[in-house]
Amino acid sequence: MANTLFDSLFAPLAKRKDTLLILADGREISGRDFLGMVARQAHALRAAGLGQGDRIAVQIAKSPEALATYGAALALGAVFLPLNTAYTADEVDYFLGNATPKVFLCDGAKADALAPVAARHGAQLLTLNSDGSGSLAVAARSQPDTITPAKCGPDDLAALLYTSGTTGRSKGAMLTHGNLLSNAEVLRSAWRFTRRDVLLHALPIFHTHGLFVASNLCLLTGGRMIFLPGFDLEAVLRLLPQATTMMGVPTFYTRLLDDPRLDRDLVGHMRLFISGSAPLLAETHRDFEARTGQRILERYGMTETNMNTSNPYDGDRRAGTVGQPLPGVELRVMKGEAEVAPGDVGVIEVRGPNVFKGYWQMPDKTREELRADGWFITGDLGQVDAKGYVTIVGRAKDLVISGGFNIYPKELELLLDEVPGVLESAVIGLPHPDFGEAVFAVLVPQKGAELQPENVLAALQDRVARFKQPKGAVILAELPRNTMGKVQKNLLRDQFRDWFL
Ligand code: AMP
Repeated sequence: MANTLFDSLFAPLAKRKDTLLILADGREISGRDFLGMVARQAHALRAAGLGQGDRIAVQIAKSPEALATYGAALALGAVFLPLNTAYTADEVDYFLGNATPKVFLCDGAKADALAPVAARHGAQLLTLNSDGSGSLAVAARSQPDTITPAKCGPDDLAALLYTSGTTGRSKGAMLTHGNLLSNAEVLRSAWRFTRRDVLLHALPIFHTHGLFVASNLCLLTGGRMIFLPGFDLEAVLRLLPQATTMMGVPTFYTRLLDDPRLDRDLVGHMRLFISGSAPLLAETHRDFEARTGQRILERYGMTETNMNTSNPYDGDRRAGTVGQPLPGVELRVMKGEAEVAPGDVGVIEVRGPNVFKGYWQMPDKTREELRADGWFITGDLGQVDAKGYVTIVGRAKDLVISGGFNIYPKELELLLDEVPGVLESAVIGLPHPDFGEAVFAVLVPQKGAELQPENVLAALQDRVARFKQPKGAVILAELPRNTMGKVQKNLLRDQFRDWFL
């Protein structure tokens, strides 16, 4: 019986006596043993009532067993719903209420707090701890280590991935077997992944980057993963010599650059460094190349679409751009219902086999963002140059409209970052009695630099039109970022809301 994703990602592990996962403590798990783990968990979950089309929500630490739960869900034809481990009980309550999963899997340490939440929404609670123990492990132990996967076609749901929801409530993006497999196949050829690759995997697996881009791709190509619980600088520096590729969010690269042990000797053997999930500063790109000789490949994607664009493997990897649309992905830049003139800024829309099927139980939101003819309105602002390279200039909701003029934060952030002593910046719009919104800059100084906000703003005076110039600025030691390295501008807007009032 065919099961689109399971047959491509997990079934081939039956033939792999060689290593699939290399763990931080040096332990190795073969493909075959890992598949046994998947099968045992699948039988245990089926015994707990999980069936085809049912959702299984998981809020568990990254571990081989946690990855196996993903495989087990696919084997049963269930819908995998991973949750950020940082979510509180109240947040989990929302997700369980919205997704109504049959099973909710959490860390044993949180079981007492989460049991009433699971009970309220009719989910059976099981536990899986970071060391692989827990009630699921106990139930799986005596189960058979092979399984016949449930029949699932490309249009069947494989995962519900909730958006990070920095404005309003998170929405559950419905991703099908076909969405996920097609994207992994495209990335395999775009980034030349083969079974000889060893991917240093330090990303969380509750997010599209670590779960789908990294894990799916590696499982599809038959390579190995150095599977770390998180980004631990010492572990990464120690294990990079064993890797051929690494995927990271920009903060991985800035943290590596902060350490003098990052040099050509350490990473000269690496085939590919990939960055995404948040903008990689052009300066980081240049510094990384100057130190290591490696040009980071930046790509752009999102929960709803997997990967949309990528800089080329061969050819010009342009700092500050996210490259060109991947094969099979159409991309256009719109202002309302019309395409903008070539090179102009507008809202990016994408269409292709990678694009999700809509938001779970939110038909209105789906209609607002996913057009009937398949184009998804990403909410990202961008422009495309003559060679098809896409530059992201920010989120549409971060656009500042001051006195009726549109101001793109990215343009100002790039200029502010050039001012001596500024490490990085975030430009936001704040309520203003005259202008509606006023431009405001949050500045982070370089180590040891003494910054005065007025001096930094003065440096912009001759460089941009007056209406774009920030009307206020503050210095912060660092910008608030979420686990994927994204600057949380909503928190900055809240913090400085009354500045001009
Ligand atoms: P998520 O759904 O959490 O993966 O977030 C997706 C959003 O992250 C996109 O809509 C973009 O705003 C942003 N993003 C992802 N990759 C990049 C990138 N390479 N450069 C700039 N923004 C990015």
